[in-house]
Order: sequence, then structure tokens, then C-alpha cells
Amino acid sequence: MTRDLICVSCPLGCSMSVELSDSGEVLSVKGNTCKRGEQYAISECTNPVRMLTTTMKVNGGSLNVVPVKTSVPIPKGKMFECMEVINNEVVDAPVAMGDVLICNICDTGADIVATNKV
Ligand code: SF4
Repeated sequence: MTRDLICVSCPLGCSMSVELSDSGEVLSVKGNTCKRGEQYAISECTNPVRMLTTTMKVNGGSLNVVPVKTSVPIPKGKMFECMEVINNEVVDAPVAMGDVLICNICDTGADIVATNKV
């Protein structure tokens, strides 16, 4: 099986072709200009990850929500589970930029961090 990808690791956006075995193992990566592209392709085909950015409810602040993000990319398959946890949490003001509001969300190893103050 072959999967076509565009590398998003830099603005060049190389078009890559990834050959996969029947079990999903990466057999080869073609079209990448550098090693980062190969690493991106392998990650994307075996354990795709994304940064999660959203908002979280705030109690008693000048705004009702604070923007947050994960401290590191998390597996795509955990996105909905993490969003459910975040949507069910309410943090008390004041919130400072960089505050860790949830530690190790859904055992991903990522913290939920405030990206602004309220
Ligand atoms: S393969 Fe390398 S040069 Fe091409 S888009 Fe990815 S990071 Fe950029």
C-alpha cells in the first residue's frame, strides 16, 4: 500500500510517497528532501500526533474562558478524549500565562497550559 503525504515540517512542503506493508509498517519513504521529512512520514503513518489548542472555562475572571494548548503534541486518537476532559473542567481566576491547568491529560504525557492570562 502507498500513502501520499505533504511534509509540514518546513515551508518547502515536499510531496512524499510512503510505502507500507500490510501490517502498516513503513517500508520506504520517497520524495523527502531531508531527514525531517522521513521522520515526519514515519510518525504520521505509525503514530500521528498534533498540538491541541482550545479554550477552557474560567470562574470569576474578566473573561469566561482562557486559551490553552498542550505542552507537547498528543496522539490524534486521544483528541476527543482530551477535549472532553477540558470541556468538563472549570479553572478559578486568576490564571497566568503558562499556568499548568491539567497535568498529564489522559496519560498522554502532555500538560494543558494557559496561553494567556485571565
Ligand atoms: S522533507 Fe525536509 S525540506 Fe521537505 S518539507 Fe519536510 S522538512 Fe522541509
